[in-house]
Amino acid sequence: MKQYWDIKSKYTGMILMFRLGDFYEMFGEDAIKAHPILEVTLTQRNGLPMCGVPYHSVNTYLKKLIDKGLKAALCDQLEDPALAKGIVKRGVVRVITPGTIIEDSLLESRVNNFLLAFHFENNQVFFAAADISTGAFFAGQSNLKSIEDEIASYNPGEILISKTASSLSDLKPFVLKNQNALSEIDDEYFDLSCALNIVGEMFGQDAAKKFSIDSDGLLCVCGAILLYIKNTQSPSLGIFSKISRVENKDFMVLGASAVKNLELLSSIATGRKHHCLLEVLDSTKTPMGARTLRQWLVKPLLDLEKISARQRAVEFFIEEPFIRREIIDKLKSVADIERIMARGSSQTASPRDLSALKRSLIAISEISKMLQGSGKFLAPIPDNSEIIEKIGNTLTEEPSSVIKDGNIIRGGVNTELDELRLIATDTKKYLSDLEAKERTATGITNLKIGYTSVFGYYIEISKAFISRAPSHYTRKQTLSNAERYITQELKSLEEKILSAQERLIRLENSLFATLRKDIGEFAPQVLTVSQIISEIDIFCGFAKNALEYDYCKPTIDESYGLEIMEGRHPVLERALKDGVFVSNDISLDENSRIVILTGPNMSGKSTYLRQAALISIMAQTGSFVPAKSARIGIIDNVFTRIGAGDNIAGGESTFMVEMRETAEILKNYTDRSLIILDEVGRGTSTYDGMSIAWAILEYFADSRRNANKGSKILFATHYFELTSLEKRFEGIVNLNVSVKEWNGDVIFLHKISKGSADKSYGIHVAKIAGLPHQVIEKAYRTLNDLESKAASFQKDKDLGFIDLFAPVKPQILIELEKVNIDSLAPMDALKLLQNWKDKFRN
Ligand code: ADP
Repeated sequence: MKQYWDIKSKYTGMILMFRLGDFYEMFGEDAIKAHPILEVTLTQRNGLPMCGVPYHSVNTYLKKLIDKGLKAALCDQLEDPALAKGIVKRGVVRVITPGTIIEDSLLESRVNNFLLAFHFENNQVFFAAADISTGAFFAGQSNLKSIEDEIASYNPGEILISKTASSLSDLKPFVLKNQNALSEIDDEYFDLSCALNIVGEMFGQDAAKKFSIDSDGLLCVCGAILLYIKNTQSPSLGIFSKISRVENKDFMVLGASAVKNLELLSSIATGRKHHCLLEVLDSTKTPMGARTLRQWLVKPLLDLEKISARQRAVEFFIEEPFIRREIIDKLKSVADIERIMARGSSQTASPRDLSALKRSLIAISEISKMLQGSGKFLAPIPDNSEIIEKIGNTLTEEPSSVIKDGNIIRGGVNTELDELRLIATDTKKYLSDLEAKERTATGITNLKIGYTSVFGYYIEISKAFISRAPSHYTRKQTLSNAERYITQELKSLEEKILSAQERLIRLENSLFATLRKDIGEFAPQVLTVSQIISEIDIFCGFAKNALEYDYCKPTIDESYGLEIMEGRHPVLERALKDGVFVSNDISLDENSRIVILTGPNMSGKSTYLRQAALISIMAQTGSFVPAKSARIGIIDNVFTRIGAGDNIAGGESTFMVEMRETAEILKNYTDRSLIILDEVGRGTSTYDGMSIAWAILEYFADSRRNANKGSKILFATHYFELTSLEKRFEGIVNLNVSVKEWNGDVIFLHKISKGSADKSYGIHVAKIAGLPHQVIEKAYRTLNDLESKAASFQKDKDLGFIDLFAPVKPQILIELEKVNIDSLAPMDALKLLQNWKDKFRN
């Protein structure tokens, strides 16, 4: 226990799992905290609570701790207990935190597991995101407001900030909301000179320049991540071969709310990956492809050349169905070579891992052959024959996953190994050969070789023949009718047999370790291969989707237009049965760039809005899109204000959230923004809400504003009064979703047409929803009353409803109109002026 407490004192804040024989034991507070999570029994020893888990299934238990955001320190026996004098030496061999795991069983294969660090300096925010299980390493600069967006985009397993930074009140709610594990670390981690050291040590002294890590803030945050990984004693640092500098100006900005509201990565209703854009786009066959696609989707491109290169690759695979099918087939046998490599660099890869790497690289070289001469849009795949040969020459075809089980290294690789194998596997033959040899030499035909666990191997001669026993036979044991002997030769054979198995394992182990180390050196090459294969995987998937779901290649240009003909919602069209989804057009340009979309509840307004955004995002990701044709002027960010999102934990009401999000949009939109506003103003009273909605639309339409040139605004509302704005401002167009009234029922056609709706059909929806008929009838009667009263106040007949926003004529104008100048004496005119002055003074 003294040894335990010594070690524990160095690993506070995490669960210490202490190896005792076949178990990892936890004591005291750790045991109390861990046992309900691990679902193991809490026991007591001398009043000290304890619990334990079997060592061979420790990964299953580690996963449970990690999933709860806890960290664990694995303390192992550092020497062979059989040879140890006194207490076995123990020490922590790894600290496992949610952001630093490499064990396959603890990771989700199709998602990156990022460790995301933030560093704050003079109101600037620097971030670095590193995945030690794949070697991905990104760094960039951000701002306080975008922290939530970075978290949404990297979806980290663990977030690192310095202890002093954690006092930033803006920070914690985001982190808590994302339920990510927050690790508050010492300020020293972010020290500049430490950062320079570790970054230089890992990537060379010119690293900062080479990777454009051009500010102290960026260096510090990269340094902090690397140090943290180093200190968890994860030997995985070798997997990183570069830092990719992320420039936000290279990508479409999709904030956390857009990612969530547009259901890019998961569905709002279920929080799961089912029914989201990623699911629809993802036809990849490899885990690397799936992870890369996820990164692409939250960072669509802005560069026309790059988008077009991706489109050309997709087109190639559409035009070459044979190659596509063959490649897709080959990709199925490509393993997660990135993660294998990460385990290779950390010396934890298993024989099966390397064997899978070899098989994958063989499949990849076949893919490479198929793609020869396919054009410049696919990067050439490096030649991997050296790795394939190295593994192939050393490993057996089907090595076991555990070294202990043997059968890992091929015959002919090492003579000692071959000999040991012969001994271990041919023990019987060796013994019978020796027996035959001794019989011939002595002429004793019933001489036999036997074995007991106490005396070991012996030569037995019956009493009748003992006089013939040669002098080099040493007597070992006397039985009633026989004598047992040992010879030098038998003795050394015995030693060989008994230690062969053990030595075999040890030798195989060391030969394998050498191979693993050699292969580890190829990490940068394999990661490059993996990146190219990921892209090929994505392009093949995009091509397959395009053909299967009738997508078109969108034209993307520098214009400010957005023209989608017969567009469909990519997710909803698949969720609905064949042929049910109603396609719709959208056509915006600089002269008509603000859409006010009215229509009954449930008619398809939200669907239409989201569809425009999703198609644009798909297009700039390089995918083809669900439409007959599409032309998209490059969009640099998509803002959304959709649905009711309470932030009760953050102490904000629905309406407050709504207004806060709207405020952010109005402050930050650019002339290349696509803005989706669904029912803004709904969260407060009718006139309040309508006035806010009016003012927002007027703000967007105001031609004096710089950001208005090409910004596109899609505004869905059930305030059909707002449609009168079309007449007042340039750039606004009214659209509505048609419905058909038939036999007292309402049929939703989901078809968008020009003009405005004049009814909400809310009561109809209430009826479908099953409100009692008394309520429905009363509601209809009340509506009739209200409408006929309103009609009598109607001022603007042309509009067909009360024009709440008709400008009110100032009183002074009304009075001026009444004046007849011809009949007004000069003195009266002066009096009238004085009168007005008094009257309108205020
Ligand atoms: P709103 O925003 O007008 O209340 P939604 O866009 O949420 O309506 O659509 C309500 C439902 O109508 C959707 O869940 C979907 O089932 C159906 N729907 C919407 N648009 C279409 C369409 N274009 N084709 C077929 N069904 C649609």
